[in-house]
Amino acid sequence: MKEMTLVSSLQRYRCWKEKQPMVWNTIIKSRRDWSIIPHLHDYGQARAAFSWDKARRELEGLPGGQGLNIAHEAVDRHAAGPLGDHLAMRWLGKTGKVQDYTFGRLRELTNRFANVLRGLGVTTGDRVYVLAGRIPPLYIAALGTLKNRSVFCPLFSAFGPEPICARLAIGQAKVLVTTESLYQRKVAGSRSSLPHLEHVLLVGDDYKSADVPGTQDYRRLMEDASEKFTIGPTDPEDVALLHFTSGTTGTPKGAVHVHNAVVAHHITGKLALDFHKDDIFWCTADPGWVTGTSYGIIAPLTNGITSIVDEGDFDAERWYGILQDQKVSVWYTAPTALRMMMKAGTDLVRKYNLSALRFLASVGEPLNPEAVVWGQQAFGRPFHDNWWQTETGGIMIANYAAMDIRPGSMGRPLPGIDAAIVRKTQGDGGIDGGVEVIQEPDVQGELALRPGWPSMFRAYWNEPERYKQCFVGGFYLTGDLAKRDKDGYLWFVGRADDVIKTSGHLIGPFEVESVLIEHKAVAEAGVIGKPDPVAMEVVKAFVSLRDGYEPTPALQRELLGFARARLGTVVAPKEIEFLPTLPKTRSGKIMRRLLKARELGLPEGDTSTLESES
Ligand code: AMP
Repeated sequence: MKEMTLVSSLQRYRCWKEKQPMVWNTIIKSRRDWSIIPHLHDYGQARAAFSWDKARRELEGLPGGQGLNIAHEAVDRHAAGPLGDHLAMRWLGKTGKVQDYTFGRLRELTNRFANVLRGLGVTTGDRVYVLAGRIPPLYIAALGTLKNRSVFCPLFSAFGPEPICARLAIGQAKVLVTTESLYQRKVAGSRSSLPHLEHVLLVGDDYKSADVPGTQDYRRLMEDASEKFTIGPTDPEDVALLHFTSGTTGTPKGAVHVHNAVVAHHITGKLALDFHKDDIFWCTADPGWVTGTSYGIIAPLTNGITSIVDEGDFDAERWYGILQDQKVSVWYTAPTALRMMMKAGTDLVRKYNLSALRFLASVGEPLNPEAVVWGQQAFGRPFHDNWWQTETGGIMIANYAAMDIRPGSMGRPLPGIDAAIVRKTQGDGGIDGGVEVIQEPDVQGELALRPGWPSMFRAYWNEPERYKQCFVGGFYLTGDLAKRDKDGYLWFVGRADDVIKTSGHLIGPFEVESVLIEHKAVAEAGVIGKPDPVAMEVVKAFVSLRDGYEPTPALQRELLGFARARLGTVVAPKEIEFLPTLPKTRSGKIMRRLLKARELGLPEGDTSTLESES
């Protein structure tokens, strides 16, 4: 059965392997001509010497032993020291505007936002959501929220009203910071069903609160707030961040992270992204994704380096221009973007002076070997793939600056991270209480991690049962299938469940199906990820119709539009196919794996639970 759910990734890998044996077998030797010695220059020694206590000692802690607060480590401790006037963040607006923020200035602004929250009666543990593109208030609100010991929760602005309101409701958002346009299009219509949402703060130059009932002016509140704020005692286990992710079934899951996560953000910035003093770092992640917080905000700041924040969308020429003009030295991006750059060709890259670039990394989806090798050809440096997920809070597995890269591999576990390939055993009585560790190399199993790193999620918001199910036999099971080769490099095989990765976004099929079946013509819906050369997968829906409806192209267009309006372009299906009935188990569950196998022309595997389709 698992074979079937994996087809997209496996097929793609086989295809590369057959078409490009040279690429597949390449090992990119790590550079030995370092101008800067990588922090992790001896993997074995670094693992042996590592402890999380030592990593914690790289941070300062709140004055007077009052605990550990992410915003103090990211902003205040630098603002108060020699980095006070150092550039912490340079914002590049879509239309050419540039705004610079030193650590000192960030301290003032985030203090103001913390005071705004305090003034509104928002306290420890209250959830403050931000729904915005990459604009300065997002960063200020995130860090100010952490200073107030409230919980920061970012949302994807490309999501439609349905997924956004579901996430606001699940986490019982008390505050939402957003723009007038996003609010009007995605939240206002459901405001009455969000009783916990007490304060909506709108940012934007043209905004007038009188025009938008139930909202307040972010800028006015910020102007009126004091720029002095003292962070209160923060227990490292106090909840700091809430990041939504998707599962195969049920509602979206809110992964809960605590202030102690900053230890992992900081050290992985050093070890996996190789941050050094004076680096200029650019993380291109969407702020709605966990990467946008852990590495788009926290890790570069705690390491005292400069972050570039670009408001614009992907455009190969714009991106190369930024790399050149901002003298970016460390660049963290994602495979979908990389594949789009590859399409634009190598000649374009060569027009730019990218001599400042010294380290390139990628995350979020499998990075195909061709892209790694292309990076080497185009930039003179390979991309270093790394792996992690919303639940892990920070990078767990990586190709390091000093390590030879095997294109297509995710790399090796970080110091402090114990990763294994496991298979579940029958019942609870198996080896290690329900899982068996696979020792032989090159054997597929589920990627599992020994809990205990600081940025591990502490809960799914209000869903203890779902959280508990992630842990078996002393391991956290990641839901990914992988192999380990004889040298300890890990190779991603595919998901063990039906979640879909499209352009880096993790989409739960259930969320899409639930919306489709709300359309009056739809009887049943089954949603799969269909392989795509650029986005990795695209969302495809199979739909059977109620009596009285005909499967016409007009209805198909109507359903696509209906889904897009409700779910947003990222989540909505790109394709809809009508079927007379959908394959179901005898208990009535739609068999997505069969839909997928049929879509891809693959063997259907075990169909013993299939209900008769006639
Ligand atoms: P998210 O929680 O949205 O960040 O998605 C996490 C999932 O993305 C993982 O469980 C993997 O399925 C996938 N993923 C992340 N990084 C990689 C990678 N380097 N290679 C392959 N898959 C990845």
